[in-house]
Amino acid sequence: MLSWTNGKKPKSQEASSTSQKISEDSMPETESTADKALESLARILRVFGRHAFELEDLKAEAIEKEFERWAMHVLVGTVNPNEANENTGRTIRRDWGELARFVNIHRQKERQYVTKNLQDVREVLWEFTRNMGQAVIEDQETDQKVSQYLTRLQEVTVKSSFAEMKQALLSAVQSIKGLVDERKQRQDRRVQQLGEKLRSVERELGSARKQMMEDPLTRLFNRGALDEHLERLASLSFFSGSPTSLLMVDIDFFKRINDTYGHSMGDAVLQQLADRLVSTFPRKSDFIARYGGEEFCVLLSGTGIGLGQRLGERLLESVRSQEFTYQDQSIPVTASIGGAELLQGESVTSWLERADRALYRAKENGRNQMCVAQETREVA
Ligand code: GH3
Ligand code: MG
Ligand code: MG
Repeated sequence: MLSWTNGKKPKSQEASSTSQKISEDSMPETESTADKALESLARILRVFGRHAFELEDLKAEAIEKEFERWAMHVLVGTVNPNEANENTGRTIRRDWGELARFVNIHRQKERQYVTKNLQDVREVLWEFTRNMGQAVIEDQETDQKVSQYLTRLQEVTVKSSFAEMKQALLSAVQSIKGLVDERKQRQDRRVQQLGEKLRSVERELGSARKQMMEDPLTRLFNRGALDEHLERLASLSFFSGSPTSLLMVDIDFFKRINDTYGHSMGDAVLQQLADRLVSTFPRKSDFIARYGGEEFCVLLSGTGIGLGQRLGERLLESVRSQEFTYQDQSIPVTASIGGAELLQGESVTSWLERADRALYRAKENGRNQMCVAQETREVA
């Protein structure tokens, strides 16, 4: 259990304490409430860190580390040897002022970042609206002028000589041509200006979009990105005829890992499995995503299920043979895989379902293995 002092309580807690040393059993509630509060604060800080916006000058990883440092500070504090305690000779200190300052400054930076990006998008919309409005007005003016030329031309045809008519026609054609050229130039200028503005916002949004596609815990692609990629790959494979395989990877008895070793250990296992996935499937065309919870998907383009199965077995072997560790504790982990090769013209839903059924069979057969769905018939 956590202890926020090594014998000495913070000033705010002194009023509820007696002057003698009190055993933990005699006042478990105050102590455990304070412990729980500290644990909750640390958890909140971690959540903030994990879901932080990647700022222009600060990578998400660095932000997460900084929040983690503060979470640890809240949990264990720092020992202050200058403030000796009569019982233990040590005092644990926590710098609440500095923590509040850190969170405050970080929040302001996030706010500035979001506000700036929103402002850029607003500007583009505003520019677009303004340009469209201007274009409509200018086009109306041009239309009016054209219409005036045509009316004049009509009048000339009624009461003028042939020479006058010819002259009026020539001048009307020239004027209208001038108006049309002008309109074309105006439109080109507008498209160019708008294009420049859009490109600059696109660059800004590029990094934000990347974040939206990323699972914050494992840094793999998230479910949304996977759905998009599945559709793209399925269409590509349909036209190119090249094989594409899908592996669905699920950690065995993960709930038990959480229950036995705690949620943080569970998170560490997820991160370490993500690293192993990345090293087992290093090709640029391999697409790895967190499907949800303790389930991952690997999309192997240009790969038939034969090779897909060999690669899947290689992943399982690396999970079995290399230890998963967290804070010097090691934990045995195994995983199961369901694999399916995309059939010609098959829908993404059916492809996923076949892989999922193969995974289910791997679990049923005793876990820690891979099963493969083949054509309409599934063969283990
Ligand atoms: P099986 O071998 O049949 O797959 O059993 P399992 O325990 O792995 O599967 P189950 O679906 O029963 O439990 C999955 C657990 O994963 C339950 C849920 O609390 C946990 N989980 C989901 N997301 C996270 C996460 O982000 N972090 C942690 N630590 N646990 C998570
Ligand atoms: Mg599982
Ligand atoms: Mg699962």
